[in-house]
Amino acid sequence: MSDTLKHKINRQEVIDNALDYTIMSWSKQKGIDPFAIERAEGVYLYDYSGQKIIDFSSGLMNSNIGYGDQRVTAAVVKQMQEVAFISPSCVSKVRGDLGKKLAEICPGDLNRAFFTVCGATSNENAIKLARLYTGRHKIFTRYQSYHGATIGAISAGGDPRKIPVDAQQAPNFVHFDLPNAYRYEYGEENLLKDSVASLERQIEYEGPNTIAAILLEGESGTSGCLQYPNGYLKKVREICNKHGILLIMDEVMSGFGRTGKWFGFQNHDIIPDMIVMAKGLTCGYLPLGCVMISEKIASKYDDNVLPLGLTYSAHAVSCAAAMEVIRIYEEDNLIERAAEMGKYLESRIEDMKKIHPSIGDFRNTGLLGCLELVKNRETKEPMAPFNAKPDQMEVMNKVAAKIKGLGMYTFVRWGYIFIAPPLIITKEEMEEGLAIISEALKIADEAT
Ligand code: PLP
Repeated sequence: MSDTLKHKINRQEVIDNALDYTIMSWSKQKGIDPFAIERAEGVYLYDYSGQKIIDFSSGLMNSNIGYGDQRVTAAVVKQMQEVAFISPSCVSKVRGDLGKKLAEICPGDLNRAFFTVCGATSNENAIKLARLYTGRHKIFTRYQSYHGATIGAISAGGDPRKIPVDAQQAPNFVHFDLPNAYRYEYGEENLLKDSVASLERQIEYEGPNTIAAILLEGESGTSGCLQYPNGYLKKVREICNKHGILLIMDEVMSGFGRTGKWFGFQNHDIIPDMIVMAKGLTCGYLPLGCVMISEKIASKYDDNVLPLGLTYSAHAVSCAAAMEVIRIYEEDNLIERAAEMGKYLESRIEDMKKIHPSIGDFRNTGLLGCLELVKNRETKEPMAPFNAKPDQMEVMNKVAAKIKGLGMYTFVRWGYIFIAPPLIITKEEMEEGLAIISEALKIADEAT
C-alpha cells in the first residue's frame, strides 16, 4: 500500500467498522479498545497509531514461527497460482505430501491425516471417529480444559466459558478432575495417586464399555498451564489399554514445538491413538486443522465409507502453507529453540520472583507458560478467583491495562498472565517483554 493511502486510513474508523459490523470473539462488543493492527513482523505487531507491540502470546498461541515470514507467502502464492481449491473428493499433490510429512513427524503408527479447518472441527471429527470405531458413546475429558467453541467441542471442554451455553451442551461428555497441583489441598505429592484413583473409580461408575475415548490437551493451555503430574499420562494410557478406550491428545495449542517437542505428549513418553492439531500447523498463515489417526483405526475404513467430510478439507493453499511452515520449523531448528528459550524463561522468572511478591507460581513447558498471581504467597490467596467476574478482577484489570499500555499483547485471565511468545523470540526480545511484565507486576505487588 502506498504511503499516501496508508495515511488516509483512520485508526478509529478501523475499530468502529469492526465493532459496528462484526462480532468479536469472547468479548463484549462495545466500549472496548482493541489493538488495530496494520502489519506484523517477527514477534511484533504494529498498530495504526504507530505503536509497536510485542506479542507474548503468539496471537492465540498459534503464531509459532512469528509474523510476516515471506517464505510462507511465497509458498502460498505459488500454490494459489497452480490450484487453490479442488473438491475434497479429488486429490492435490500437496495434500498427499502433507499427509506423508505429518506421518513422518508423528510417532508410532499415527500415519493417516484427516484434514479440517481449525481446532474445534478437528476435535469434532476425532470424537465422531472414536465413537464410530469403538461403538461406544461417552467421551471423558478434564475439567479446566478447552477444546474449541463449536457445540461438541465446547461440551468436551471443561472451561467455565461453557456455562453460558449450558442448555446447548451435547450429551455424553463426562468430565473428570485433575486439580491444579499448586493448589492441591492434600499435598502435591499425593496428586498423582489421588487423581488416577479418582479417574479409575469414575470409569467404573460410568461403565468402561460405554467409554469411547479420553480426550486430553497435550499440555494444558488456556486453563493456566496446569501441568500433568509426572507419570499421569502413562497411567491414563494404561487405563485406556485395559478398557479398550481410545486416547486422543488435543495438540491444538501444545503442538508444533510450543513445548519444546513436536507434540506436548512427547514430554510424557506416551503415544495416543489420535492427535488433534491446528494452530501451529500453519501458524495462522491460513486456517487448517488435522486429526492424525493411527493406522490401526484408519485401516478399518479402507473398504468402508467413513462419514466425515468438510468442503474445505485438505484445502490446497492451506496445505501448502503447512508444508512450508513445517519446513521452517526444521530448517530454523525452532523446536529445539523453544526448549532452550523455555529454560531461559524459567531462570528469568526465578529472578523475578525475588522482587515480585505477587508471583505465586510459574508453570511452563517450553514456551507455553503462565504466571499465577497471589495476594499472599503463604496462604496462596489468589489475585483474582477462578472464573473471576469483571468486578472481581480489579487488580488484574489494572495489570492488564498496564501491559497493554506498555505495548504488549498477551492473555491476562483471572489471576493468570500467559507467557507464550513465538518460538523465534530472541533473548533480547524476551527481556523486553519481561521488563513490561515486571513493570505491570508492581501494581499487583502493591496488592499483596
Ligand atoms: N483445542 C485446544 C487445546 C485449544 O487451545 C483450542 C483453542 O484455543 C482449540 C482446541 C480450538 O481451536 P480453534 O479455535 O482453532 O477452533
